[in-house]
Amino acid sequence: MSYQSLQAEQQPYERQARETVALVIPLYNEEEMLPLLLEALEAHRAAHPEIVRVIFVDDGSTDRTFERARAGASGRAGYTLVRFSRNFGHQVAITAGMHLVREDAAIVLDADLQDPLSVTPRMVALWREGYDVVYGVRAQREGETWFKLTTARLFYRLFRWMTELDMPLDAGDFRLVSRRVLDAYRQIGEQQPFVRGLISWLGFNQIGIPYERAARAAGSTKYPLVRMLRLAVNSLTSFSDKPLRLAVLLGLGSTAIAILGLIWVLVVKLILEGAVSGWASLIFVTLFFGGLQVLFLGIVGLYLDRVYQEVKGRPRYLVQEVWDSAAGSPPVATPPSL
Ligand code: UDP
Ligand code: MG
Repeated sequence: MSYQSLQAEQQPYERQARETVALVIPLYNEEEMLPLLLEALEAHRAAHPEIVRVIFVDDGSTDRTFERARAGASGRAGYTLVRFSRNFGHQVAITAGMHLVREDAAIVLDADLQDPLSVTPRMVALWREGYDVVYGVRAQREGETWFKLTTARLFYRLFRWMTELDMPLDAGDFRLVSRRVLDAYRQIGEQQPFVRGLISWLGFNQIGIPYERAARAAGSTKYPLVRMLRLAVNSLTSFSDKPLRLAVLLGLGSTAIAILGLIWVLVVKLILEGAVSGWASLIFVTLFFGGLQVLFLGIVGLYLDRVYQEVKGRPRYLVQEVWDSAAGSPPVATPPSL
């Protein structure tokens, strides 16, 4: 097939409309953020009419996030609220939001205004030039602890080494995705999606733009250390089998050492007729290989758990309520105070 005819085949995609954009924003106990967020969104939308809809996914908040979002959005055009039946996690919330987008593109951003709205016009401009994924690369991160910055940097590098996936370094979930990426993403049915990895995996035309990541505008982080570790383990086990291959290599290595040791024992016993030596070395070998075995059983267990989750085939999220500012409660003249 010639390049021209290939290009001709691509045309329907190229002709896809690149007009309207939806924002996808996950919310988890963000009631403190909502007044600020809504105000910022309204101001931004007034200047950028291509953003025709905002999709809030309330990830099972235990505070009044949903009620406040609904109160703030009623009487304003283009807000859709989805409420999960419980907390399913940030990555699942983003996934659900992306499933709901009917517009030509979606921009995913955090509720805490750490991903500045002022970057979205640059993302839209690149999308209109033909890019399918425009992701934000964190050039600077304000208000993050040294620990979070260092562990994040290390993680992205470890991830790249382990998975050989061309995932951009230091990019989070702040990105624009085109309609065809949204459609492709729909086909992924993974239980524990690691969204940024999956989007890289999809391919298409991707480009990064640097931005300065602001500090959280209000409230506190919903990603404590334990959750960060869980995300790291999930993402690695979903994209990499290197730990398993390393386990096999180490297993082979330790078997080889054990065989050499056995030969040595036989030589000492039969030829040198020496006394049985080495309580210390015996303990060392036992502990060392015992530890290795437990470690690698654990690694195998992690993968088995992933398989188990997939096999159960439960729904990834459950929606308790959907509310749309057009169809929902009747518009109110003066928005109730938040
Ligand atoms: N979030 C969510 N579900 C969760 C945890 C967080 O939807 O279980 C949302 C949260 O409301 C925010 C975004 O994910 O919009 C990022 O969370 P956060 O700002 O707390 O993370 P950090 O920036 O500290 O890594
Ligand atoms: Mg944040």
